[in-house]
Amino acid sequence: MTERLYYQDCYLREFRAHVVEAADDGRRVYLDRTAFYPTSGGQPFDLGTLGGVAVREVIDEEDRIAHVMESPLAASEVDGVVDWERRYDHMQQHTGQHLLSAVLEELFKIRTVSFHLGAESSTIDVDALSLTPEQLERVEERCAEVVAQARPVQITLEDASAMLDLRKASERTGTLRIVSIEDIDRSACGGSHLRSTAEIGMVLTGKSEKIRGTTRLEFVCGARALRRARSDYRLLASIGRALSVPPEQSPPLIAALTEKNKSLEKTAQRLSTELARREGKELFLTTAPGPDGIRRVTQRGPIDDTMRARAQAFAAGERAVFLAVCDQPPSLLLAASPDSGVHAGDRVKAAVTAAHGRGGGNQQLAQGSVPDSAALAAAEALLR
Ligand SMILES: [Zn+2]
Repeated sequence: MTERLYYQDCYLREFRAHVVEAADDGRRVYLDRTAFYPTSGGQPFDLGTLGGVAVREVIDEEDRIAHVMESPLAASEVDGVVDWERRYDHMQQHTGQHLLSAVLEELFKIRTVSFHLGAESSTIDVDALSLTPEQLERVEERCAEVVAQARPVQITLEDASAMLDLRKASERTGTLRIVSIEDIDRSACGGSHLRSTAEIGMVLTGKSEKIRGTTRLEFVCGARALRRARSDYRLLASIGRALSVPPEQSPPLIAALTEKNKSLEKTAQRLSTELARREGKELFLTTAPGPDGIRRVTQRGPIDDTMRARAQAFAAGERAVFLAVCDQPPSLLLAASPDSGVHAGDRVKAAVTAAHGRGGGNQQLAQGSVPDSAALAAAEALLR
C-alpha cells in the first residue's frame, strides 16, 4: 500500500522513497510513499522526476500508486521531485472550484454535480437549467470577497458515520478526508488544496452552456485568470487596432460593418446580374448567324446566376442558342429562343443521359451535370 504524502502535506515538493516494485522493465514504478498526485476526482496527475527520470503519468490503483516512467528506473531508493508549477496550478483551480461551488450554493442554492480540471480551463456541471450573467457577476464578486478574507483551508480526517454537514453527501464509509474552507464549505475530497483562500487569486467565470439538463460552467483561477484576462485584453486591443477605434467601440462598429457588407453584397449581385444581361444582349448583336440562320455561342465558366442571366439575355434575341460549359463540377447549361427550333430541356436531357449524367429543364432553359470530364466532352459534342 502506497503512503500518500500529499494527503497530509499538499505543499511537499521533494521526498525520498523506497522502490517497492519496478514492473514493465522498470517503466512502472511503485514506491512505499509518494508526493505524486494520481488522476482522480477531476484533478489530473502530477509530473516531475523520480531518481532523475521523468514521470509521464501517475495512476491510482486504489491501494497502490503507479508511476509510469519515461525510461526504465533501476534503483532501490529514489529522490522524487514534483513539477511544482503544474501542481500549484492544479491546487489553485481545485481549491477555487470548492469556493465557486460553495458560493453558488450559498447565493442561489445551485448544487455542483461534477468537476473537470482541463489544460486550459476547468468546468463544473451544476444542477440548474441556466446561469444568468447577473448571477455569475455576483458569484465572482462573492468569491473575491472570500479570497480577500484569506480564510484558512483545512484538511481533517473524520468518521463517515458522524454528522458531517458536507456540501455534497459522501457515499464512502470509514474515515473521510474533509476539506473545509472556514464558514463556507465542507467537502469530502482526496485532491490537493491550498492552505488559504488568498492563494486562489481571482476566480473568473467563462461561458456557460446547457448539457443534458445541467449547465456546464467554465472557470479559471489564480495565474490562469491573470493569463486569461491579459490575453482577452490583447485580443480586444488588436480588434480595436484593426478597426481603428478604441476597443469599447468595436462591437457597434462590427455590427454596423456587417450590416453594410450584407447590403453591398446584394448591390454587387444585382449589378453583376445586370452587367451579365447587357453582355448577353451585346453578344447577340455581335454574333453572326450560322448557315441555318441561328446565332450560336459557347462559353466556359461556372454556371451561376451571372452565367444564367447572360445566357437568357442572349436567347431573348431571335433564333439564338447559348451553351455554357463548366469543368468543375462537370455541368452544362443550354438556353434557346422559342423560334430557334431547339427544345433546350429535351436536348440537355438526351445529351446528359447518354453521358451517364442527369438534368433537364423547359423549352427555353435547361441544365445538367455529368460524372467526369470525358462525359462532359461527350455531352458537349452532342449539344454543339
Ligand atoms: Zn477538492
